[in-house]
Amino acid sequence: MARYTGAVCRLCRRERMKLYLKGAKCDTMKCPIERRPYPPGMHGRGRIRESEYLLQLREKQKARRIYGLLEKQFHNLYVEAARQKGITGENLLRMLELRLDNVVFRTGFAASRNQARQWVRHGHVAVNGKRVTIPSYTLRKGDVVELRDKARNMIVVRHNLDTLDRTVPMWMDVDAEGLKGTVRDLPLREQIDVPVREQLIVELYSK
Ligand code: SF4
Repeated sequence: MARYTGAVCRLCRRERMKLYLKGAKCDTMKCPIERRPYPPGMHGRGRIRESEYLLQLREKQKARRIYGLLEKQFHNLYVEAARQKGITGENLLRMLELRLDNVVFRTGFAASRNQARQWVRHGHVAVNGKRVTIPSYTLRKGDVVELRDKARNMIVVRHNLDTLDRTVPMWMDVDAEGLKGTVRDLPLREQIDVPVREQLIVELYSK
């Protein structure tokens, strides 16, 4: 599966905010946003003409980058969200949250969504006892996600659990000792803490 392989801190600088893509580095003074809180490139500090389209585009790019999706994957998810009953923007965020790589990240075992995605790709994650290697796998209410035997002994997992101060979302239960997480409920909008105005994304795609 294709993925973005460029410099991730540039993405945060483009959105002028921390997207927490790097794990532990994001909370230190080494974070480039602390020193250069303006977009990258030679025109980064130039004047930008704000427009409605630009606002919508930036909001979409921000969401896409937080969850680490390429444009086509993100658009496909939007199409699926629009087909479902309910509010499209909320459907979209819920589907993003229920991706397997995101749920592994939310458990607090992985420092970033990128790390979680790599573990899934490498076969370190099981859903309901079965190995799943697809990061975009959509979880359902009641699904149990756990790290498999080899991953349980990885130093990085213990390090993450000891050092990351992550709050478990209301819609999940996490057993840190058993290295397990359960999707207790489908996430509601108010339980999703990403700084995205999803309505602007819907407006952009509905043009
Ligand atoms: Fe973004 Fe983290 Fe890089 Fe800071 S360190 S710019 S928050 S990815």
